[in-house]
Amino acid sequence: MRPSLLDPLFGRIAALPGVGPKTAKLFDRLLARPGTEARLVDLLFHLPSNVIDRSARPTIAAAPLDTMVVLKACVTEHRRPQGRYSKSPYRVLVEDDTGDVELVFFLANQDWIERSLPLGATRWISGRVELYDGRRQIVHPDRVLDEAGFARLPAFEAVYGLTEGLQARYVLRASEEALARLPTLPEWQDASVVSANKLPGFAEALRAAHRPSGADALSPQHPARQRLALDELLASQLALRLVRARMRRPSGRAHKGDGRFAGAIESSLPFRLTRAQLRTLEEIRADLASDKRMLRLVQGDVGSGKTIVAALAMASVAETGRQCALMAPTEILARQHYDRLAPLLEPAGLRVALLTGRIKPTERTLVHAAIKAGEVDIVIGTHALVQGDLAFCDLGLAVVDEQHRFGVEQRLTLSAKGDAVDVLVMTATPIPRTLALTAFGDMDCSTLDEKPPGRTPISTRALPAERLDEVVAGLRRALAQGARAYWVCPLVEENEELDLAAAEQRHADLAKLFGPAVGLVHGRMKSAEKDAVMEGFQRGDVKILVATTVIEVGVDVAEATIMVIEHAERFGLAQLHQLRGRVGRGAAESSCLLLYKGPLSEAAKARLMIIRQTEDGFRIAEEDLRLRGEGEILGVRQAGLPSFRLADLAAHARLLAIARDDAELILRRDPELSSERGQALRALLYLFERDEAVRLLRAG
Ligand code: ADP
Ligand code: MG
Repeated sequence: MRPSLLDPLFGRIAALPGVGPKTAKLFDRLLARPGTEARLVDLLFHLPSNVIDRSARPTIAAAPLDTMVVLKACVTEHRRPQGRYSKSPYRVLVEDDTGDVELVFFLANQDWIERSLPLGATRWISGRVELYDGRRQIVHPDRVLDEAGFARLPAFEAVYGLTEGLQARYVLRASEEALARLPTLPEWQDASVVSANKLPGFAEALRAAHRPSGADALSPQHPARQRLALDELLASQLALRLVRARMRRPSGRAHKGDGRFAGAIESSLPFRLTRAQLRTLEEIRADLASDKRMLRLVQGDVGSGKTIVAALAMASVAETGRQCALMAPTEILARQHYDRLAPLLEPAGLRVALLTGRIKPTERTLVHAAIKAGEVDIVIGTHALVQGDLAFCDLGLAVVDEQHRFGVEQRLTLSAKGDAVDVLVMTATPIPRTLALTAFGDMDCSTLDEKPPGRTPISTRALPAERLDEVVAGLRRALAQGARAYWVCPLVEENEELDLAAAEQRHADLAKLFGPAVGLVHGRMKSAEKDAVMEGFQRGDVKILVATTVIEVGVDVAEATIMVIEHAERFGLAQLHQLRGRVGRGAAESSCLLLYKGPLSEAAKARLMIIRQTEDGFRIAEEDLRLRGEGEILGVRQAGLPSFRLADLAAHARLLAIARDDAELILRRDPELSSERGQALRALLYLFERDEAVRLLRAG
């Protein structure tokens, strides 16, 4: 259980004084995961995104233009707009010994102006001076204060990211309350790390980050930001290591298959395995044969042949009489795996079942019973594998395909369905080194860095959208010769509705030209409908498949040889690469047409150039990283990488290394976190909501 010391931090923002139910909802929207309520800790970890520097106090004549200043001046004149509904502003003239400046208020609240700026009074006015018609003016000063107000004005003010309707002063006020409730927590960082890096304590760092004393407070290198980042990174590294240590406990269940299934399958394959596939299989089999639990990531570009590697690994485990599960992120993919693998595995003597959300209840009951009774060797499915009451007779290996679509929890849930289950995860998203460490620090890694032979290179061309007619004419010729094509529609600002409208429009346009051979799939369709269209495309009844990006992951139709991508300039490199990877799967010549709408930004130009130059996924990933920077890659949610609230991996790589080394040392000395510092570290884990990791400790 979470130590009670932390309770105040996990209290609801809604319970703070001055936060009404309406404001509370806005805080929820800004800070909380959907369906949950924002807590003080969420607010405290919502660091200011900017700082207003009000430390400049010049005379009016000396005030620099367009810079935040605080002027001390006397109110000398009010110029009210003519008529109540006049569009002209309310102007107030103020002056000091050196000069004067006009305060300009559009659509002004006259009462407020008269109250705040009485004639003859001295006021402190904060804002930016600009020149208009040769005269100094401040449009909408951001503060107008009397002496008492000025005494309370901080020289630096935190600015927070907001959500529509939430006013900055509410956030400031709530953060004030939250800071006041910060408990005194024991120090969890190593004393020598703290002193060597001149870091403040956790509470002190939070206060400094929220109540900046200088404009440098935003820098990731500011001691307060470094301290908070290090705390978050240490929590994450510790949690990863705890999961890893737990997974690695000797299972005492080495699987040494005799090769009877795997051998039969391998010899029935119409192709030879690549060297990369053989090497990866060897690595997997070594893991399986050892009494340590396997936790391995297989990273391989689209089309590198990950599925067959997984199938052979499963066959090896099945030889020892244990069961295997293969989990895919979508219904389409699960069915595709089943349709491909069953004909391969069943002749070798393996019993294969499919389990997805769409299986009818009566059939599901039967499949569940068969799995429980050990009458199924390999079950292929979707999330349905981790949901509900599915029980295995003896699960030995869990394979997770397209890992980036799943969370760590789902991985754990599946592997918890058996005793010391080995885990294999597969991803087509190449992951740069530093990121791999944080996201997958708990895994070993194999790389399929070689494509099966016999693939014809894809000819990739970029064309302006104005040449759509040419593309359609070319498509007509290709279809006449039996080709099949994907037509991917634009990604509009991640707005699903607009995406959909664009795809539907294109579908209608193409259907006018090509008739019923044009199909449409998009993310809003029911999975049964989606499958029906996909199956039509696989069979060849559908020849042009118009799609939003739902086809991005894993679909394999070898006969498809044309990929048209509209508004290619809006797609990221990785996405373009994934989409293009849907074609060029057979020996036939394939082409990819990137339709773009100019004018292109420099970055878009670079992306289109790189994608035309190479099909090498790792090279593309590197270029992608170079173009975007690590920070931005981390911001991409679907990549499945952990997002940090306080740390910025691009800026805090050095701290990551410190946290990693420290976490290792800690667990070597105190694996159960039972020492005094260990107790403090448990609090740290709870603070960053790594409860799961602490639970592993206790389960010990
Ligand atoms: P991915 O790594 O993208 O999941 P798949 O496993 O779907 O790739 O494989 C893509 C295609 O390549 C499949 O049709 C598969 O049968 C084929 N394939 C896999 N390995 C080889 C190989 N060694 N030689 C030839 N074709 C192969
Ligand atoms: Mg795949």
